[in-house]
Amino acid sequence: MPDSNDDPDIDATDEESVGSPAVGVSDNSAPDLDDVVLDNLDTGNDDSSDEASRGLFDDLLEGEPIFENKEVLRPSYTPHKLPHREEQINNMATILVTALRGDTPSNILIYGKTGTGKTASAKFVSEELETTSQKYEVPCEVEYINCEVTDTQYRVLAQLANKFIEKNHAVIEARIETLEHLRSRAREQPVALEESDFDSVEAVDEALEDLEDDREEFEEVPMTGWPTDRVYSSFFDAVDYHERVVVIMLDEIDKLVEKSGDDTLYNLSRMNSELENSRVSIMGISNDLKFTDFLDPRVKSSLGEEEIVFPPYDANQLRDILQARANVAFKGSALTEDVIPLCAAFAAQEHGDARRALDLLRTAGELAERDQIDQVEEDHVRQAQEKIELDRVVEVVRTLPTQSKIVLFAIILLEKNGVRNINTGEVFNIYKNLCEEIDADVLTQRRVTDLISELDMLGIVNAVVVSKGRYGRTKEISLSVPTEETEAVLLSDSRLGDIDDVQPFVQARFDN
Ligand code: ADP
Ligand code: MG
Repeated sequence: MPDSNDDPDIDATDEESVGSPAVGVSDNSAPDLDDVVLDNLDTGNDDSSDEASRGLFDDLLEGEPIFENKEVLRPSYTPHKLPHREEQINNMATILVTALRGDTPSNILIYGKTGTGKTASAKFVSEELETTSQKYEVPCEVEYINCEVTDTQYRVLAQLANKFIEKNHAVIEARIETLEHLRSRAREQPVALEESDFDSVEAVDEALEDLEDDREEFEEVPMTGWPTDRVYSSFFDAVDYHERVVVIMLDEIDKLVEKSGDDTLYNLSRMNSELENSRVSIMGISNDLKFTDFLDPRVKSSLGEEEIVFPPYDANQLRDILQARANVAFKGSALTEDVIPLCAAFAAQEHGDARRALDLLRTAGELAERDQIDQVEEDHVRQAQEKIELDRVVEVVRTLPTQSKIVLFAIILLEKNGVRNINTGEVFNIYKNLCEEIDADVLTQRRVTDLISELDMLGIVNAVVVSKGRYGRTKEISLSVPTEETEAVLLSDSRLGDIDDVQPFVQARFDN
C-alpha cells in the first residue's frame, strides 16, 4: 500500500482498526469478521464513529437513483425541441424574419392556456432570431419581459431602458477603443486615417468627445422615483441610439393590463412613428383569451396585427412531450409502462397542461425514490396527482385575503359539526362571531355572499343555488377540499390562529 507509506496518519489508524475487530462485531447486522477488518483497512475509518455516522441519508444514497437528470423536468429548463408546436413556431418565425431583413415585423399576439408551451416556444424563437442576426450581422435584438414580475408601466419601461442603456454602453466602449487605437496610429502615421471616415486627428478627437458625452448621458434609470415621462424618454433615446430592429416580448401581458391598464402598450405601440433610427415590434403573450376586451381599440388593433393560438395538448401529444423529456431525465428502465400514459391522461383533463404533466412525472419519480424502489409505478402517479392537487389548494387558501379566510373557516366549522346543506345565513352568523372575536371588520351579508362565490370559483367550496319555493332562493354550500388540511392552513394565519376555542361560535348559529 504505497499510499499508507506516504501518510503516517493513515498507517496509525489502520493499525488501530486491525487491532480492535470486536467493535465491528458488535454491529447489529453481525457481518463476517473478515469483512469488518477489510472494510476498516480500506476506509481507514474509526469503528466507533461508523454506526453514528450511518444516518438519515445513507439509505437514500445507497438506493439506485431513479433519475439521471431531474433538472430536465423542472419548469426552469428550456427544451430545444418542442414537439407539436412546429406550426406555431413556424408562424412566429415567418413573421419575425422581417426583422432580419431590417424591416419592422408586425406585432404579434399569442394566446393559449397555461402550460401550452407559449413561453418555451417564444424563448426558443427569440434565441434563434438573435443567433441568426449575429450570424448575418444584422442589428436585431430581442428583449424578453415577464410581466407577472414586472407589472407596472414604470417597471417595464425602466427595465427596457436599462437593458438598452447597458447595450449602448457596450457599443460606446467598443467604439471608443477603436477610435483611440486609430488616433494613436494616426499620430505616428497620418496615412492610417485613409481607410477611415476621418480626415484629421482632430476629427477623431471630436468623435471621441461626443462618445464620452453619450456615455455620460445614458444614465441608468432607478427602479422607482422618476416621473414616468422621463423613464419613457430614457427608453426612447436608448433604443433610438443606433439603427436596429427590436422585438419586445411581453410574456403574461394580461397580468400587466390587469394590474396597470394599457398605457404601456399604448406608448410602446405608437413609438415607431417617432423613432428615427430604430424600429420596435411587440410580441404579447397572454394566458387569458379575452384580455383584449379591456384594451383601448387603437391598442387592440395595433397589438393584434397577427394572432397565433396555442391550443391545449391532447393526451397523445402530452405523451410525446413527456417521453422526450423522460428519456433524458430517468435511468433506462425506471418507468413502468403505464406511467407516462397516466401522467398524460391526468394532465389532459387539466386543460392539456404540459407543465402539470411534467410536474406529475417528476413528483411520481420523487415518490418512488422516497419509497426506495427503483421503478416508478402507476400508483406513484396517482399519489403525485393527489399531492399536487393538495399543494395547489394549500397555496390558494394560504394566499386568500383575511376576510375570505374567515368565511371559509366558518364553513369548515359548520361541516365539522355535522351541519349539512349549509346556507349563507348560517355561514354569516358564524362569520360575524369570528370577526368580533379577532377584531376584524364585519362585512355585510351581501359581501359575504360574494366572497362565497369567489371561493366557489376557486374550487374551494361548492355553492349551488336551490329554490325554497315562496321563501325565495338560497345557496347550499359544501367544502370541496380536504377539511383537516385546509383548517390547518387557515390556523397557520396568525389572526385566525388566535382563536383557541371554536365551539361557542358554532353554538351561536342556533342563537339567531
Ligand atoms: P405556457 O407559457 O404556455 O404557460 P410553458 O411554455 O411555460 O407554457 O410550458 C410549460 C412547461 O411545459 C415547460 O416546462 C415547457 O418546457 C414544457 N413544454 C410545453 N410545451 C412543450 C413541448 N411542445 N415540448 C416540450 N416541452 C414543452
Ligand atoms: Mg408562460
